[in-house]
Amino acid sequence: MSSLQAATALLEQSLRTRRALLGRTRTGVTRESLARLSQAPNAGLSQISNLKSEMPSSARLLALNEAVRACRKCEHLAAFRTQTVFGIGNPNADLMFVGEAPGFDEDKQGEPFVGRAGELLTKIITAMGLTRDDVYIANVLNCRPDMPKGSTGNRPPEALEMQRCLPYLREQIAIIQPRILVALGKTAMTGLTGADESMSSMRGRWFSFENIPLLPTYHPSYLLRNDSLSEKRKVWEDMLLVMEKLGLPISEKQRGFFRSGS
Ligand code: SF4
Repeated sequence: MSSLQAATALLEQSLRTRRALLGRTRTGVTRESLARLSQAPNAGLSQISNLKSEMPSSARLLALNEAVRACRKCEHLAAFRTQTVFGIGNPNADLMFVGEAPGFDEDKQGEPFVGRAGELLTKIITAMGLTRDDVYIANVLNCRPDMPKGSTGNRPPEALEMQRCLPYLREQIAIIQPRILVALGKTAMTGLTGADESMSSMRGRWFSFENIPLLPTYHPSYLLRNDSLSEKRKVWEDMLLVMEKLGLPISEKQRGFFRSGS
């Protein structure tokens, strides 16, 4: 069974489950649209995109994830990975966080932003009055960058690796259509936009990706290495900008987080 046929089977299964859960006999997805997806000889990202108006975001993400799982565009990463690490969260999120690549923990667990940096990102999201289920979290790369045999740690993705994988992220963004994107760290920002400035000069400024406002801020792992109040405050000020743009309520207590003396 090809990956596309597998994706189609999964889609049909998810639709049956959805119908059962909702107690409905009709969804926005038609059998014809699934047939088109499975019969297209070179079906891929564009076919998934073209079904945008007919299929729920969750089904389109499922199909895209299947394409990612089968991807071997970077043979060295495909050989090294335990598994691909696709985005996770609310398929209709207003807010989407984008990091650079899975690390050791993410590669083992198959989920972006787990481990210590992930825990810190969860704390930041919670401080905003949200949960991980409210937002969507993804990386520019879906595979862990390979490391020399026997060495530990992680390495940042290379420009060519990010270039190859960016269409998958672009597609996730097109499906989810978030109101705001947050790039976590300079590498993610470079992968998204090609910007090559320092994070200290980019953070706090709005950029744009596919006409969606994009705010760069420090990666949580930077805060794990530099946990001074002033650095935490910079990231928090960026999150306040995001909250304001999303129209989220901000309490006085939230405005005061990480100010010296608070
Ligand atoms: S990093 Fe992306 S493009 Fe490269 S093999 Fe993994 S999924 Fe494919």
